[in-house]
Amino acid sequence: MSIARRHLAVLAALPLVLTGCASVSGSDDGTVDVLASFYPLQFVAEQVGGDRVSVDTLTPPGAEPHDVELSPAQVSRIDGADLVVYLSGFQAAVDDAVDQTSPAHVVDAATEATLRPEEHEDETAEEHEEHEHGDHDPHFWLDPSRMPSVVDDVAATLTEIDPDGADTFAANAAALTQRFEELDAAYAAGLAQCDSRTFVTSHEAFGYLADRYDLHQVGISGIDPEAEPSPARLAEVSAIVRDEGVSTIFFETLVSPKVAETLAADLGVDTAVLDPIEGLADPDADYFSIAEANLDALRMALSCS
Ligand SMILES: [Zn+2]
Repeated sequence: MSIARRHLAVLAALPLVLTGCASVSGSDDGTVDVLASFYPLQFVAEQVGGDRVSVDTLTPPGAEPHDVELSPAQVSRIDGADLVVYLSGFQAAVDDAVDQTSPAHVVDAATEATLRPEEHEDETAEEHEEHEHGDHDPHFWLDPSRMPSVVDDVAATLTEIDPDGADTFAANAAALTQRFEELDAAYAAGLAQCDSRTFVTSHEAFGYLADRYDLHQVGISGIDPEAEPSPARLAEVSAIVRDEGVSTIFFETLVSPKVAETLAADLGVDTAVLDPIEGLADPDADYFSIAEANLDALRMALSCS
């Protein structure tokens, strides 16, 4: 989804800046100035844009993106960017900033192709009220088969902004889509034959992944990684771990593992990392290297052959 916006108010007041709005670039080095709201979208923009774009992110490396807050300087960066790539319904501060400013182009990754309606089988209405999210589980990027539609939207919008780059963007998008398809095939094959299909994770970020590969996610803390689990929830999860012979409780890299570690110690099971790929803790990693490490960790925990 791409929304072209015009700086009507600004143009009326300052006619001399008109050329700045239509130019290929807002950045100094002649590249398209792209602002992504968090890591997976930054990765897509970098891969599709190649050296024709400069990509910045609104979520600093190593930070947890759910509750990101924006400085006034970041909000004005959004206003001045050639392209903003974000996921509406995921980061409230970014939603507000995009609504209140006029970036030249916007790609919202929240589309019918990426998001499914949120479901909480065993949740009370009161628990549901506590969610800060909108109507959807945002974590679509953990299902690689949902990524190519974002790749296409980014490539199409970059082509609108920088038509001379059309061939480059199309070629980069095709190559990236192929990598997502190969990753999807590797997950499907790697998770086909497993002794268990239930995995326990601190932050309930893997619903799309579980759906895609026929696994069952049991979340301790819910969709918001900072939420404290209730004693009742901990008791439920403990019962599942015992009943289903779960070997491993997963925690993630950007949030304290304390709850997962305490529960695992109580139950005498292992802990391991399952990374929701919301931000990079290791600058040498990227989307694919983390996704491959996640597949290895799942195969180990679920005893897949
Ligand atoms: Zn999350």
